[in-house]
Amino acid sequence: MKLSIFFAWYDLWIGAYFDRDRRTAYVCLIPCVVLKIDCRRPHRSRSPAHLRPASSYACESCGRENFVAHIAPDMSREEFVELMVGEFDMSREEAESQQGEWLWCPDEVTCRYCDCTQPTPREGTP
Ligand SMILES: [Zn+2]
Repeated sequence: MKLSIFFAWYDLWIGAYFDRDRRTAYVCLIPCVVLKIDCRRPHRSRSPAHLRPASSYACESCGRENFVAHIAPDMSREEFVELMVGEFDMSREEAESQQGEWLWCPDEVTCRYCDCTQPTPREGTP
């Protein structure tokens, strides 16, 4: 448990509030002076986090930063070459010379804050 006191001009209330998701209690006995009681217990996992490739973008409408996870297909190098040759009309030499990781990104993204949907840039477009 961690206690802290802070001033917040917008907290013009008297009483107590418990945020169940954050497991944190807020007690306000004097308007704008808030006692915060953090009831979360620190947890340290031994299993490593699975980090995935992602991109960020600033929403055109509200300007906030959003993150978009990409899908990294689980395929062998041979399957990748066959996909490039069969589906994308790439020569076998060109497909075999491709470097890096193959990722799929969405055609459009939606801002998690304001629901603004924007197309993502496609190959050959700025
Ligand atoms: Zn937005």
